[in-house]
Amino acid sequence: MNELIKRAAKDLAAAGNVVALTGAGISIESGIPPFRGKGGLWERFDPMEYAHIDALMRDPAKVWKVLVKEMKEIVDQAEPNDGHKGLAKLEARDKLKTIITQNVDGLHQAAGSTDVIEYHGTFAWQRCMDCGKKYENREVDLSEIPPRCNCGGILRPDAVFFGEMIPQDAMWRSRQAASDCDLMLVVGTSAVVQPAALMPVYAKESGAKVVEINPEKTPLTREISDYLIMGAGGDVMNRIILELELKTDNI
Ligand code: NAD
Ligand code: ZN
Repeated sequence: MNELIKRAAKDLAAAGNVVALTGAGISIESGIPPFRGKGGLWERFDPMEYAHIDALMRDPAKVWKVLVKEMKEIVDQAEPNDGHKGLAKLEARDKLKTIITQNVDGLHQAAGSTDVIEYHGTFAWQRCMDCGKKYENREVDLSEIPPRCNCGGILRPDAVFFGEMIPQDAMWRSRQAASDCDLMLVVGTSAVVQPAALMPVYAKESGAKVVEINPEKTPLTREISDYLIMGAGGDVMNRIILELELKTDNI
């Protein structure tokens, strides 16, 4: 792994436009369970029953009671970890331009990253299903489930459910960022949720290097990634940043 850390630091130092794509894996060390794999939410819940737009439309109270309430409570308490902080440090040193995140937990912004594309929206805000008014989580009264807007409409997370379109703006900005970068860091995503998993493909097609950080191989590993640094997001980011600091005194 040491060799790969050195290689990543060298590649980052040489790159002019770095973009990161992150997934649920980067937030595991902050106590937020991923969807898939060990300890994942899908071990306990059927996605089609709780995370599909049809389920939300059919019975919003049921979805609120289980998935949304569970996720919201965890997300409200979570703090950014070294993975989020490392990416924020790279941005602060002008080494990272944009983060495309599939996460809905707001932890990149909490760590100080300023250019974050929330590909799947956010759980930090709720939106009225009737009038579209948005509320920050802390403004939402959860004593009644599902919570309601001032207009009486039901509130839903301002996030993308299965079966829904990606917000246009997020989709186009991400595609552009992926095509423009010369190095993409792919951190903590199983790369099976589409179309988010296409971002590294766009990057690769435009000639960028693709560097994966994940404890496991993914569908990208063989075909798309230049190399995989096998490890947890926080630890690997810390080591890369340390190496960069040794390399150039100004990072
Ligand atoms: P995923 O749940 O499908 O996969 C998680 C990935 O993280 C796996 O590849 C796993 O090997 C890796 N991983 C495990 N531990 C890690 C660690 N310590 N550091 C780095 N990586 C680690 O996640 P996904 O690909 O993002 O797809 C799931 C979808 O679910 C996303 O689209 C997202 O919107 C949503 N989701 C978001 C959150 C969140 O906001 N934190 C949580 C659960 C699900
Ligand atoms: Zn309303």
